[in-house]
Amino acid sequence: MAKKNSTNWALAPAPESTDHVRIKPEYGLFIGGKWVKPKSGKYYDTINPANEQKLARIAEGGEADVDAAVKAARKAYGTVWSKMPPAERGKYVYRIARLLQERAREFAVVESLNGGKPIRESRDFDVPTAAAHFFYYAGWADKLSYAFPNRRVAPLGVAGQIVPWNFPLLMAAWKIAPALACGNTVVLKPAETTPLSALFLAELIQEAELPDGVVNIVTGAGATGAAIVNHPDVNKIAFTGSTAVGKIIQRATAGTGKKLTLELGGKAPNIIFADATIDQAVEGIVNGIYFNQGHVCCAGSRLYVEESVHDEVVRKLKHRMKSLVVGDPLDKNTDIGAINSKEQLGTINKYIKIGVNEGSDMYQSSCDLPSKGFWCRPTLFTNVAQSSRIAQEEIFGPVLAIQTFRTMDEALQKANNTPYGLSAGVWTDKGSKIFNLTTKLRAGVVWANTFNKFDPTSPFGGYKESGYGREGGVHGLGAYLRLN
Ligand code: NAP
Ligand code: MG
Repeated sequence: MAKKNSTNWALAPAPESTDHVRIKPEYGLFIGGKWVKPKSGKYYDTINPANEQKLARIAEGGEADVDAAVKAARKAYGTVWSKMPPAERGKYVYRIARLLQERAREFAVVESLNGGKPIRESRDFDVPTAAAHFFYYAGWADKLSYAFPNRRVAPLGVAGQIVPWNFPLLMAAWKIAPALACGNTVVLKPAETTPLSALFLAELIQEAELPDGVVNIVTGAGATGAAIVNHPDVNKIAFTGSTAVGKIIQRATAGTGKKLTLELGGKAPNIIFADATIDQAVEGIVNGIYFNQGHVCCAGSRLYVEESVHDEVVRKLKHRMKSLVVGDPLDKNTDIGAINSKEQLGTINKYIKIGVNEGSDMYQSSCDLPSKGFWCRPTLFTNVAQSSRIAQEEIFGPVLAIQTFRTMDEALQKANNTPYGLSAGVWTDKGSKIFNLTTKLRAGVVWANTFNKFDPTSPFGGYKESGYGREGGVHGLGAYLRLN
């Protein structure tokens, strides 16, 4: 069926083929280089959120499975990986990068099938950026002493890594690549709803002939993650996810000597000055909050517009929203795919109701939505108060809260006024405004006249309740090394 957006023109379907993707009916746990059945005997179904159909049966790892994975990682660390010349380690990481490039189409389809994100995103961003991280850190493996001059560098040991559902493959790459390059071994848990790309990565790691136990993938839910966090023989925890779970992990690791990095939630402000190129800014705002369903920790979910251009910006935003296509994630024309789970859709809808009840004005595009699966139209709110919950709390969906400002100080005060500090965007013609704001915005990344740009050489991480520690770049190495 031709897909209609609310401008009333239709695009012919252009679905990506799935013929080349072989999803097995059932996956075990990847421990010690082998596929094993969960000792718990438990499995659960993973689905495609765009049609609610089952994709595969996934093992639910329990404490005994996590223990087996940590033991395998410890053995690989002590006998092979920490002893291997760093240049050799680098070659393995490089091989993962090359294989990921070769199988890029397959990984993109799997990511979109299981996560609901548009194929355009998984194909053009997630998979190439994941490969780029492996390439980048492969290069560092034998140059660690140059990264930290006059220091003696040593790996930490076994790293426990827990990732969320919004960038399943990319987050796994962010975590595995630097850990391996620095000489650590890994036990990684993907999110319950999006395990498939990590399991495909496990197969790829087998294909790359990494020594057994260097990377272990244990699927499961929150309890599986907690078992990794609480395991006494894990030296480092790297967690990406919600601030609530980050706090639990921080408490659980306090006093244990485990090194910890937390990449948590966000409520990123985009600030548009009247002197900005408005059309470019509008496209950047749309990209920042609507593409990828707003399932981005650094999504530009708050918008501060200089009062004199408020009406123009809102008019242009609404016009652009009308042309956004919501639908089949595998279709190349899709801008907004499926919401990752029924639970997440419930959260988003709850916040949309809160916004309306708090007295803000809601606008949604009127595009068609598929009848099955989990969907949300691009939504914006005007007349939002700074104290409003939709301006303060992370929604993690395609919902934008718009406010105005008159002076730069006011914009800065409002932008910094949330518990989060992951990222921010500034749109202006004046370099002086950009420099002034980038030094004062309490955010780990500030983009100027662009948004959501990533590069493996650039560190990423939060201020305040968005977490601590940095991933990416040279900073990302520091998180996996002991420096003497
Ligand atoms: P979440 O509930 O915190 O889950 C993240 C991961 O932790 C999942 O693998 C989850 O397993 C696991 N987990 C849940 N409870 C746990 C526990 N008690 N101990 C150890 N692990 C546990 O977050 P989410 O809702 O899936 O993901 C969205 C959140 O991630 C948002 O807040 C977003 O901002 C944040 N995020 C941050 C970044 C960043 O770089 N700062 C990037 C992406 C996402 P289950 O899947 O089974 O629940
Ligand atoms: Mg969860």
